[in-house]
Amino acid sequence: MKNKTIAIHKGTLKDADTGGINTPVYTSSAYDYINRDETFYPRYFNTPNQNAVAKKIAALEHAEAGLVFSSGMGAISTSVLAFAGTGDHVVMLDALYGGTHHFATEWFSHFGIDCTFAETSAGDVINAVTPGTKVIVIESPTNPLLAVVDIIKIAGFAGEKNITTIIDNTFASPVNQTPLDLGIDIVVHSGTKYLGGHSDLCCGMVACSNKKMGKILSLARVLGPSLDSRACYLLERSMKTLVLRVNAQTKNAMEVARFLENHPGIEKVYYPGLENSEGHEIAKGQMTGFGAMLSFEIKDKNPDLFIKGLKIISPAVSLGGVESTICSPSLTSHAEMPKEERQRIGITDSLLRLSVGLEDAGDLKQDLDNALKKVSH
Ligand SMILES: *Cc1c(COP(=O)(O)O)cnc(C)c1O
Repeated sequence: MKNKTIAIHKGTLKDADTGGINTPVYTSSAYDYINRDETFYPRYFNTPNQNAVAKKIAALEHAEAGLVFSSGMGAISTSVLAFAGTGDHVVMLDALYGGTHHFATEWFSHFGIDCTFAETSAGDVINAVTPGTKVIVIESPTNPLLAVVDIIKIAGFAGEKNITTIIDNTFASPVNQTPLDLGIDIVVHSGTKYLGGHSDLCCGMVACSNKKMGKILSLARVLGPSLDSRACYLLERSMKTLVLRVNAQTKNAMEVARFLENHPGIEKVYYPGLENSEGHEIAKGQMTGFGAMLSFEIKDKNPDLFIKGLKIISPAVSLGGVESTICSPSLTSHAEMPKEERQRIGITDSLLRLSVGLEDAGDLKQDLDNALKKVSH
């Protein structure tokens, strides 16, 4: 089956009582334990609605097993803690999602875990590995500068050393990148973004082998970040259009990136689909599409005034919805980082991150152009 078919059909539990073609929403939190092989319970992560979406993400990520969580952070923190404990060392990218970074800096010491942060090149990640390293956590493309990390090189090295690799695949989505095929052990998602896709749902997902999932599930059942059946159904409904949405958004992003690249009011565009971008060659080898996230710097203009001049694209911190959203990383995701450190890693005050939606690409370009013209007066 191809992706578009998998997204629609995989995991669906047809209603045997009525012949209804959609998975019914199972509202119970109490289930029979006598006449059944398995006892269902929402916090066991095994209700029919949880299973339906878990099967879908597993199929899309080419994994044996999938699991749905109540947030991306629930999925990420549970996955890391399932494979790293007291005395262990973890290598993480410096450029990881802020919440994941925070989890490591604020909480790893509490669990007796030591962590080294590495820059985005495979060499840096490999150099950070010690004999005690149990887990490597990466993300590609990264937020907000869309750096492309060499997944194959890192996964190959980690595989030889028996280190568990975890990738946050939120930005690419399984439509544009399937990291398990590149040798990664565990894929995690903030389902709040592309999988949910309509900016109305908070959830997370994990996909990996049955063996690895056994440990993650065992920990998840006691930590308890499970997703309610009604929200699972919304997610299931959204995932049916995942492939269509992300393909169309990716196409729009390429068009918007080219437009910005050639615009006199723009200083720099970060998008792995542009031939002259730093990560383009690696991206071509590991992605099937370059995604729908891009960043750009505007020339000598007030970024806040520019954002206020936009009529279609909304200022918002989240991403991956059908509507285009824009944010200033220096004022949002990276606001707590000292300015000098931000400048050093390339997050200037004029950098803006754009999540390209499903609108007409011409309208989006017009909106950006109008706002740029407004600030230049
Ligand atoms: C949003 C996001 C997360 C966190 O997900 P939540 O659903 O908010 O917990 C993790 N990683 C990336 C890349 C994200 O964009």
